[in-house]
Amino acid sequence: MTTHPDPAVLICDLARSFYDLGWVSGTGGGICIRTGDNVVMAPSGVQKERMQPGEMFTVALDGSIVDRPDDPALRLSECSSLFLKAINLRGAGAVIHSHSLHAVMATLLFDEEFSISHLEMIKGIEGMGYHDRLVVPIIENTARECDLADALEEAILAYPATHAVLVRRHGAYIWGRDAVRAKTQAECYDYLFHAAVEMRRLGMPTTVEGGIDDASVQTAGTGVGGRR
Ligand code: ZN
Repeated sequence: MTTHPDPAVLICDLARSFYDLGWVSGTGGGICIRTGDNVVMAPSGVQKERMQPGEMFTVALDGSIVDRPDDPALRLSECSSLFLKAINLRGAGAVIHSHSLHAVMATLLFDEEFSISHLEMIKGIEGMGYHDRLVVPIIENTARECDLADALEEAILAYPATHAVLVRRHGAYIWGRDAVRAKTQAECYDYLFHAAVEMRRLGMPTTVEGGIDDASVQTAGTGVGGRR
């Protein structure tokens, strides 16, 4: 990926890629990148794949607007308070909010936690290895995006190892220590959400308890693919 030094340019570039993946279609989703003590954020309710660098907002870590675009019609992202949770509580350098269908479908197959194990792509998540069980908390959706903030904070604090939180019937918030890490982890998470949906479709469990050599859980259609 490009690592353009101007976060506003990088956000526009990333948004075009994410649009092609179906993560930010229909003006949904969002991206922010931290720069020093400020955070550059895409505006709310715009075609994410057609944004220009001059349309970005800059906010301080307390959420106050430091700089706004010239166009008065542009509004600060509805995700701003949520982005700041990951930045202030977890030291994130960039946060991606995805409306990926894979993430949405994954939230319909699990209760309070998404979990998956023994897939190579788990290694793409910081601190995780192939044999680890990856867990992602799921919070309930609200009518307004900003009303998710308290539940997101609770989930971030309750799951100190996670770099993502799923929102039921909505999507996911995924972060990393910088834009590259946020992007690559978002790709790994999305792959794993997709894999889990397909595994469940085939009646397979998404986690392998007791090790990968347990043949009883390697066969599709074993009937153990229900809710936890
Ligand atoms: Zn959203």
